Amino acid sequence: MAKLLRKGPPQRRKATVTSNDVVDVLGAEFRMQKEKVLSTLRSVGINLEGSSSTEEMDLYREVIACKVGDFTRFKSGNEPYLAKLDEQLRAFDEIYVDTAPIIQEDWFLHFVSNAELILKRRKKKLLVLEKTMEELHGLKDNPEKDKDVRVRSTIRPDLLRFLARKGIVRIGDTGSTGIADDHLVELFASIGNSKNLMLITQDRELSERIVALAHKLEQEPSELPKLPWWKKLFGSAEGQAPVSHRMVVCKLVEEGKLKRCYVCPECNESYYDELVDCEGFVLCSRCYIELKEKEAKQVAANDLKRELELKKEESRQKRLREEALEKEQEKPVFTVAKALERRRKKFLLVFSLVVVIVILLAIEIYIIAV
Ligand SMILES: [Zn+2]
Repeated sequence: MAKLLRKGPPQRRKATVTSNDVVDVLGAEFRMQKEKVLSTLRSVGINLEGSSSTEEMDLYREVIACKVGDFTRFKSGNEPYLAKLDEQLRAFDEIYVDTAPIIQEDWFLHFVSNAELILKRRKKKLLVLEKTMEELHGLKDNPEKDKDVRVRSTIRPDLLRFLARKGIVRIGDTGSTGIADDHLVELFASIGNSKNLMLITQDRELSERIVALAHKLEQEPSELPKLPWWKKLFGSAEGQAPVSHRMVVCKLVEEGKLKRCYVCPECNESYYDELVDCEGFVLCSRCYIELKEKEAKQVAANDLKRELELKKEESRQKRLREEALEKEQEKPVFTVAKALERRRKKFLLVFSLVVVIVILLAIEIYIIAV
């Protein structure tokens, strides 16, 4: 039974287990006394009665894991993924986490379990605003929220304080009032030019605002780094170049993985994709395909146009050749026979003239003589 419950993804079928089985399984998994399992669950308002669905077992596991600080079950053993996460996180000076990703499913537990060593090694912390702690406090007693949301809102503050003690999380009191989203946007606008920032939020509207802000800051000339006078005088031009900073918004998905929010400059729609080091305004796949199709059509149209032009040129060349041939045929042909004939005619003409002149001279001499 324990083996069956531990392995595999959550089952969609509403399989149920008795409360006794629940306590046995959890006690074995966490090496806890049955009474301790029951009291831990009771401390967040879970009273085991009769039977529970196997889906609820995962929520119970979360509760005990958060209470005892045992997150081994949420850690990924996938080394390439951990290396990728390291690459994704190390570029940022500050990583802010909004309220929703902390309580959506068990994704935050996966994320912190995998990010813990990376954050320690890179000397970085996750920043959680005091406002988030207040929101969690408000959610845990809200009867309109689902049971899992209320339970998670109850146990997460303990987890965040536990992580703060371990140096993974910093709970920041920024003295904000009003809407948390506005505050975050203002905060990012004021420090975005001097730091690399990441925001983890499930809120699409807030994500779009931050992507737009990042785009705006990228367009503005960056501030020159403050250098002492001697560095300004003797330092290289490279050292004095403006420093550009990145601002990225991600959401948490299954297994605590990060998906970055992008805005398509063509259709203005936001979408989530792999976290890549680039600007936040990137064509969405639909617009990319449309653009490629348009390009292909343009290429085909250009090819067709060029083909028509080639054909036109070919027929023009052909016509020219034919005209030249016709002209060639019309030209008088100078043959040897024709030249001889012409010379003979010329000779006869000259001879006739000479004869006429001689006759005339003879007549004249005759007249004089007479
Ligand atoms: Zn688009």
